[in-house]
Order: sequence, then C-alpha cells, then structure tokens
Amino acid sequence: MKWLLVTGGSGFIGSNYIEYVLEHDKDTAIINYDLLTYAGNKANSKSVENHERYFFVQGDIANKNQVRQVFETYPIDRVVNFAAETHVDNSIENPSTFIRTNVLGTQVMLEVAQNYWMIGRDALGYPVYKEGVKFLQISTDEVYGTLEDNGSFTEASPLEPNSPYSASKTSGDLLVRAYNKTYHLPVNITRCSNNYGPKQHSEKFIPAMILKALNNQSLTLYGDGKQVRDWIYVGDHCKAIHLVLEKGKDGEVYNIGGDQERQNIEIAKLILSSMKKEDSLIEHIKDRLGHDRRYAINHQKLTNDLGWQPNYDFYKGLEETVSWYIAQKQK
Ligand code: NAD
Repeated sequence: MKWLLVTGGSGFIGSNYIEYVLEHDKDTAIINYDLLTYAGNKANSKSVENHERYFFVQGDIANKNQVRQVFETYPIDRVVNFAAETHVDNSIENPSTFIRTNVLGTQVMLEVAQNYWMIGRDALGYPVYKEGVKFLQISTDEVYGTLEDNGSFTEASPLEPNSPYSASKTSGDLLVRAYNKTYHLPVNITRCSNNYGPKQHSEKFIPAMILKALNNQSLTLYGDGKQVRDWIYVGDHCKAIHLVLEKGKDGEVYNIGGDQERQNIEIAKLILSSMKKEDSLIEHIKDRLGHDRRYAINHQKLTNDLGWQPNYDFYKGLEETVSWYIAQKQK
C-alpha cells in the first residue's frame, strides 16, 4: 500500500482529487490533512468519509508540530500539497494569511517530509531518501503573470506574479525548487489554469455567476469583463495531477491547461442562457486592482512526455456544473 498525504483535501480540487485516486488507484491510502478554513468543507468528502483507505486529520500546514504528528502516525511516502489560501480578492484585502499558508506552510511541509524521508547521505553529502517518495506542489498559471492577446505560458516563461495570491504561490514554488536543488528532495510542480466543476466555493467566478443568476441578482463583472481565462474541468486536472505524481520526471514543472480560452463576459452569458435568463442581469463594476488580462497555458510538455490531454467538453462541463449547483440549492 502507498500512503499519500493530501493537504487541503476538503477544498474544491483536493476533494475531487481524493475521489479520483480512491476510485482509480486501489494501491493508495489517503490521509486528508486540512485546516477546514472557511474554504474547506467536510461535506466535500461525504462520498469517501467511510472508505477504508481514507483518513482525515484536521490541522494546519504551517504548524510544524501538527505536521510532524501526521508523519509519525502514518507511513507517508508521497505528498500532494493543495492546501492554500486561494482567493485573489482576499489576497488584496489581507495578504498576510496568504504568506503564512502558501509560503511558510509549503516550507514546513517540505521540511517535515524531508526529515522523515531521509535515510542517509551520499558521498557528496547530499541526502538520500526512501525509495519512491515524492512531494508534488499544486500551483497555478497565475505565477506567470499576464499575457497580451497572443501567445501562451510555457514552463520556461518568466515568473511574474501580479497579485499577493500569485506572489505567494510563486514563492511556494521557488521553495519547492530549492528543496530539490539543495537537498535533492524528489519533487514536481504542476501549474494549472482556471478550474471549474462541482464543489467549488461560491466565492469563485463560475459558482458566483451561477448562484447570482439562480437568485436573479446582478452578475457583476470587473471592468469590461473581457479578461480571458483558460478553463479546465476539475476531473481533467485531477487526472493530470495523478499522472505527474506517478510518472513525472524528478524536479520538473508541468503546465496543465484545458485549451478553452473564454472571456468572463462570455461565460456569464452562457450561464444566463443555460437558465433562460436575460443578459440584462450583467452589471459592470470597477476593475480589480492589478487584474491580469489574459492567461493561456501551453501544456505540450505534459502531453508529449506523459501522454495527457484534456478531454472534457467545455459546454458539457459548464452545463453539468450549472446543474450541480441547482441541485445543491434544492437540497
Ligand atoms: P480551495 O480554496 O477550494 O481549498 C483550499 C483548501 O485548503 C481548503 O479545504 C482549506 O481548508 C485548506 N487550507 C487552507 N489553509 C490551510 C492550512 N493552513 N492548512 C491546511 N489546510 C488549509 O482551493 P482549490 O481551488 O481547491 O485550490 C487547491 C490548490 O490548487 C491551491 O493550491 C491553488 O493555488 C491551486 N490551483 C487552483 C486553481 C483553481 O482554479 N481553483 C487553479 C490552479 C491551481
């Protein structure tokens, strides 16, 4: 049995990932380590809570003693670090919690994993680790900053974060890289574009638009609403993460994208039309500070090296997501 520590597994992507792994990888037991902040929801794990290979521990990735306790209790050999503060608007209001969790928390996770996995040193003094261990950092395309109308981010694009959120994620990524270069800790980093799908927190763009449309409230868009994001269905992201965990080459970064560039205003209109409501519900408000204009991801490396492709049709995925939120509201 492989023992996988998933941090932030009660959030949107982490909870979808846990369901994916328990279903597709029968050799893996999962410990979900989550602080259950306002963004974490135990109900996201309802479908797996009684699974024999699922364990839940409530705790903080920035608390070294708590993290050590988890490594003492379970024979963890792999970590997928989803846990993070994730909402850009909150990062503009209160950057410090983002630094604590996304930077300090990542460093604590790396340090504890390194201590528990190290079994000796090689002739040059570099640490040697238990066979098969890996630390996978879940990151974002936002670390690359913003694009004009053309081009896309590759893994070689410069890191130019523009918000406190993306700056904190970039800092986390750089620490993961440093643990690989300095201590030879086996790591990968994945950088994904915007996810959508069931269980996403209502503060995020697509759920917020769906819920406002359902309640006949204004769908507020920052500025002209023509900001472009590359959307990926969360299930496609989960599949890519597990592939990188299993087969990713040591120390490599892999971009993950959905090949679905859409303007925010286009998505708001699609959601309204799926509910047979008028575009007049759309309202433009003052633009967000430091708002990135366009993201687009080039995932050729992951596709060429590991054979991954995004599969989910955007329109089908969006319809299903709308239906999921409608069903939740009726419960
Ligand atoms: P989310 O906000 O839905 O979930 C975050 C989870 O982390 C929550 O369950 C929360 O309780 C937990 N958490 C927060 N602080 C913690 C701490 N100090 N210790 C332990 N747990 C803590 O986030 P998400 O959208 O599922 O994103 C997960 C990861 O994927 C993040 O690292 C994010 O940067 C990255 N990412 C997200 C997207 C996206 O579109 N949502 C895209 C690319 C990358």
